[in-house]
Amino acid sequence: MMLRRVRRRLNVSLTQLTARTTIRSRLRAPVVTFTFDDFPQSAWSVGGRILERYNARATYFLSAKFCGQTISGVRYYDQDDLKAIRANGHELANHTAHHSHLPELPAPAISKEITENAAFLYQIEPDVRMVSFAYPYGSVTPRVKRIVARHVSISRGVWPGINHRRIDLGLIKTICLGRRSGGTGGSVAQWLAKAKRTNGWLVFLTHDVAAKPRPYGVTPEVLEAIVRQVVDAGIQILPMKNAVGLIAPFCQKAAPSDDSPPSRTMRRRSVDLGGSGANIGALAEIRDELGC
Ligand SMILES: [Zn+2]
Repeated sequence: MMLRRVRRRLNVSLTQLTARTTIRSRLRAPVVTFTFDDFPQSAWSVGGRILERYNARATYFLSAKFCGQTISGVRYYDQDDLKAIRANGHELANHTAHHSHLPELPAPAISKEITENAAFLYQIEPDVRMVSFAYPYGSVTPRVKRIVARHVSISRGVWPGINHRRIDLGLIKTICLGRRSGGTGGSVAQWLAKAKRTNGWLVFLTHDVAAKPRPYGVTPEVLEAIVRQVVDAGIQILPMKNAVGLIAPFCQKAAPSDDSPPSRTMRRRSVDLGGSGANIGALAEIRDELGC
């Protein structure tokens, strides 16, 4: 037990320290992102509508495996949902084709999980390029992080924290909402206060939005209360790729104008341990996606 905990901690530290694609945040005000993983249909039909009432948009991490399925009584998204989500201005993002535990797979299989999921969405929405990614189960190691970075630009984990100052796009920190995740109104207020103090990027994660949610989901009342807290705090809510567009200095359309030269971090953004030329391409992809 003790050994497992030590190994887990070691993996967290190593993964945070290696294969980094860092950008120095240019945020002049905090930003919040809501993300839904897998994703149950209620994340869209209930959660999406709540966000839209507050003129906010979310990021939906989809796995092809769940399309049109009902598993353990939970109904998942279908193709029409994907079209509607896209049409309503939310972000569709990659969560692997089979929701696999990536550390157990060899490199070609990890790549296949990502490209196969992209090919799945291409059949439905050929104009959408998924630039954001979430590690299934939050499982990531330095090796997995490096391989995923060859394919996608922004990767979200499940480890908590505020993203500020130097932000590692390969491992975005996240606050999990849900009774098993320990998310409460009080702790949300603390996270929001911290985001305001640091001009940080706060990312929330949940799954279904239902009267009786699964352990990693929330009720509509809880979600709406959190959205209202964010709005009342005067904090902007954006999908992941749009938040990165605001954070990164290369996107003049999205970022506040500033005369200072590009930061050192940006110029050497792929030099961190494990970084690769692919990361530069990945950042350019975000720019293309945002039209800047
Ligand atoms: Zn998942």
